[in-house]
Amino acid sequence: MSRYTGPVCRLCRREGQKLYLKGEKCFTKCTFEKRSSAPGMHTRMRRPSEYGLQLREKQKAKRLYGVGEKQFRQYFRRAIKARGVTGETLMQLLERRLDNVVYRAGLASSRSEARQTVNHGHVAVNGRKVDIASYLVSPGDEIVIRPRSLKMDRFKAMAEYLEGHTAPAWISLDPQNFKCTVLRLPERDEVDAPVDERLIVELYSK
Ligand code: SF4
Repeated sequence: MSRYTGPVCRLCRREGQKLYLKGEKCFTKCTFEKRSSAPGMHTRMRRPSEYGLQLREKQKAKRLYGVGEKQFRQYFRRAIKARGVTGETLMQLLERRLDNVVYRAGLASSRSEARQTVNHGHVAVNGRKVDIASYLVSPGDEIVIRPRSLKMDRFKAMAEYLEGHTAPAWISLDPQNFKCTVLRLPERDEVDAPVDERLIVELYSK
């Protein structure tokens, strides 16, 4: 999957809102708060078309979850085939990604850090190492930072933060053991993501 590797704050400026892609830095040194104009030399205010709005919403969701176009389409196809409201299922699939769950549980300060944590083999699901960030968790799954990884300074430094972190209601966090359990799949109103998924469904339904 090709992944955006440029300056991430640019993505917030492009979407016209803070996407909190850099973890703690987003609360202390936010570029968007200093400069919120869209990137590029010839940007001017225009009323976006219906298509433009739908496209931006899709781009925003992709950027928020760090997912490429191909994989995003695959989630959408899967959401269409599933029972229920397509847009809500799409958001649920994105939330079920292992890197997202690691982030939501507080085991990483941003999704990109969570992706790296998973890719570097620091995470186990139900007792087995899983180094695929797009792995989809299911209710009952136990996710833990592997014991050998806990010796690393970054995890030692995280212990205090974890104690004060509140995970969403669908995830149970055991901060002492760097462990979380997926209790159930999230409802849409439990997904803290500034995305209007109905626009994405409209875009892909054309
Ligand atoms: Fe976005 Fe965070 Fe950069 Fe602010 S600091 S522009 S919220 S990524």
